[in-house]
Amino acid sequence: MKTSKLFQVSTLNDLMLGDYNGTCSVKELLKHGDTGIGTYDGLDGEAIILNGKAYDGRANGVVSEMSDNDSLPFTTVAFFDESVKEEKVTFESIEDFKEKLAAELPSTNFFYMIKMHGKFNVRVRSCFKQEKPYEPLFKVAKDQREFEYHDIEGYVVGVYCPNYVEGMNLPGWHIHFISEDLTKGGHILKLSGEKVSYKLNKLTGWDLVLPETKEFSTFNLKEDLSKKTEAVEGSAKK
Ligand SMILES: [Zn+2]
Repeated sequence: MKTSKLFQVSTLNDLMLGDYNGTCSVKELLKHGDTGIGTYDGLDGEAIILNGKAYDGRANGVVSEMSDNDSLPFTTVAFFDESVKEEKVTFESIEDFKEKLAAELPSTNFFYMIKMHGKFNVRVRSCFKQEKPYEPLFKVAKDQREFEYHDIEGYVVGVYCPNYVEGMNLPGWHIHFISEDLTKGGHILKLSGEKVSYKLNKLTGWDLVLPETKEFSTFNLKEDLSKKTEAVEGSAKK
């Protein structure tokens, strides 16, 4: 049986509660996928993994390529199959994007990786690197920085997770942006695009690596954080 797997490090609730310790190196991560998203040690920016390279969209608005020894506390990647058919889509908002792309999924019970390319209007955010002792993400995210770009060429990389992963990852779409020239990027809060091209990979497996941190060992990971997660990962600041 051939499976294309999503490779995940840690769980979303562990990150939400403040475990920002990088446990997976960039070098190790790239052995498990060439495309994906995440964040770096200390919550230092938004990870975009594209074409086998790991980039960081930081809160100062700068993107840099990360090196082998940099590490990630939470991330999801997969090896992207470029041989799938390329489609085109137009959407006016992130909600419109979610609706249109959800309609394209053969089933919402699988994981998917999406790679889009084209010209976008996009609003992204990044968080600042945190110092220990770490505060939970819903407190830290209040200090996030947001940047808006219009008619910008770039890539959207994203993961779709089924509803049953609640607490372990974000149900639905989680998308990050990086500009064509690799200088701008972050976690997407608002998005529109006209006739942008995209490729969609269905993933039929899920590899989850649990971090051996003090936090992960002691946090109450059963707590329902869905409302707080929605507030952090969802919409732009009012
Ligand atoms: Zn994100």
